Amino acid sequence: MNIKTSDYAISESKSVKMDSFSTKYDGKLEKEKGLKLFDELLKKLQDLQALLYADGSKSLLVVLQAMDAAGKDSTIRNVFGPINPQGCKVVSFKNPNSVELAHDFLWRIHQNVPRKGHIGVFNRSYYEDVLIVKVKNLAPKETIKQRYDHINNFESLLNDEGTKIVKFFLHISKDYQKEQLQERLDIPEKLWKFTMSDIEERAYWGDYQNAYATVFEKCSLPKNPWYIVPAERKWFRNLLVAQVLVETLEAMDLKYPKAQVDPKQIVIP
Ligand code: ATP
Ligand code: MG
Repeated sequence: MNIKTSDYAISESKSVKMDSFSTKYDGKLEKEKGLKLFDELLKKLQDLQALLYADGSKSLLVVLQAMDAAGKDSTIRNVFGPINPQGCKVVSFKNPNSVELAHDFLWRIHQNVPRKGHIGVFNRSYYEDVLIVKVKNLAPKETIKQRYDHINNFESLLNDEGTKIVKFFLHISKDYQKEQLQERLDIPEKLWKFTMSDIEERAYWGDYQNAYATVFEKCSLPKNPWYIVPAERKWFRNLLVAQVLVETLEAMDLKYPKAQVDPKQIVIP
């Protein structure tokens, strides 16, 4: 049994209610079977990445967004860890520095878009500029309002120039976040990850959920969909992300380049 990934996709502009998405997979697939499927998908992903690299005419950009402690890092480790690092780069977007703030919001983004043949993973992204920036009033309202169109145009530009974009929101509940943050406090090896900003941002939970709903309403297109991933069962989260990536790469019509020689004509001396 495979997952029907389209059940988790938003690919058109429509009204979105965050409560309507589940945060915890409760379907029929069992964990044991899911883990087996995940291993198979990772093999496919490795083959497809090699093909993307050889084809050399297109790239894949993976956008990962989530509330704090939802598991972005662990998703990256599990899904992208096994693939060839030569053709994959992860970029984490943090609080912009003064040089970045002295430019438009897409300036630091554009230079990190993956080159042809490569996979790029954005751990947070330009969507922060309509999420935290909106929730915390870090830019004028009018400026933020215009950014949804800028984002859609930017994504269209990338699409037209050969960069396929796939966007994931790792969806968790406020209670689950509490458990995860508590774990950071309780486990010595995880304590370094805890910052007071985790507590500060948690106080704006409702505002963030509304800001995310607006993102999904305004920035979901058939060619650039959002996937809302129920992220509280890690095995299912990894499986869904891997399957979407495999399906996306398969649909990219990648080909090995035409051979430059006829192997029958060549004798290695
Ligand atoms: P974790 O989920 O493990 O805590 P993280 O991605 O939250 O990882 P942090 O270093 O804790 O990493 O936080 C980065 C912070 O930078 C986030 O709070 C994020 O909202 C913020 N940030 C990212 N982009 C922007 C932006 N354009 N403007 C303002 N803040 C931003
Ligand atoms: Mg954080």
